[in-house]
Order: sequence, then C-alpha cells, then structure tokens
Amino acid sequence: MFKRRARADREWREAQRAGQAMLAMHTEWPEPPVPVSAPAPATPTDAAVVPDFLPPDFRAPSRLDVSGLMMRWLPPLVIDGEVRQCPECGTYRDWIIFNMRDGAVWLRCQAGHHVQEPRLDSAWYNRNSGPVDSYHPNLEDGLRHLGH
Ligand SMILES: [Zn+2]
Repeated sequence: MFKRRARADREWREAQRAGQAMLAMHTEWPEPPVPVSAPAPATPTDAAVVPDFLPPDFRAPSRLDVSGLMMRWLPPLVIDGEVRQCPECGTYRDWIIFNMRDGAVWLRCQAGHHVQEPRLDSAWYNRNSGPVDSYHPNLEDGLRHLGH
C-alpha cells in the first residue's frame, strides 16, 4: 500500500510538471500539412496510474494526454545562425511553434502556412517555452488564445 501510494505520488508530481511545461491542446492535429509517420505511443506507462488521493477530474493533463504544445514566438526565429523564413510567404517573425506529441516541431506563420522544422525538437521547445497557462479543446481555440 505504501509503495503504491509513493508511486502514485511521484507520477502525480511528474504529471504536474509536464502539465506546467507549456500551453497545450487536447484534440488531434486537424490537418497535418504533410503525411507524418508518427504513431501514438500504444500504452503510456507513466500516465496510467491515477493518484488515489485525488479524483481524476483534479488531475492536470499530462504531456501524454494532449496532442501537442504550442507557443507564440514574436522575434525572428534564428536556427543555426540563420533566420527561419516561411517558405511560402517569406515572413520571418511572429510564429506559432508547435511541439507535437511525437516530438516533431512545426512552425505556423501568421498567414497560416505550416512547415516542419527538423532542426528543432522537444528539448529545444522545453528550453525555450514558458509555463503552460491554458489548455484548449482544439487548435483554433489555442491559436486565438495566442493571438493568431
Ligand atoms: Zn507563410
């Protein structure tokens, strides 16, 4: 019993930490710009246990419960010393940066063009993002929240 509680406690704290990491979305990515071969993890083991001292409704969503994280990036995005431009419209500032559950990083310019950025990953996103301040039921809601 003690062991189980300690384990649940630890998982709760991990879920809390993950939940605080970034802004997140609950729904599936609505329109993948290109085919992505990224099957969702079959059985997330570290999010499977519900802490027995709190009802499930009080749990913060963990990273595995959301389809992706997103943040607004206003200044020019410099990668490897080079300013990233939208390949379609040439804009280079005011991006929405997505970190999907599969680890892929996508950029969305203000005109709504999506482009994957393989040089960025979840580690980069985690280093550069602030705490999660809200959860959204769909992509549009998240974009509105971020001012796009
Ligand atoms: Zn664009």
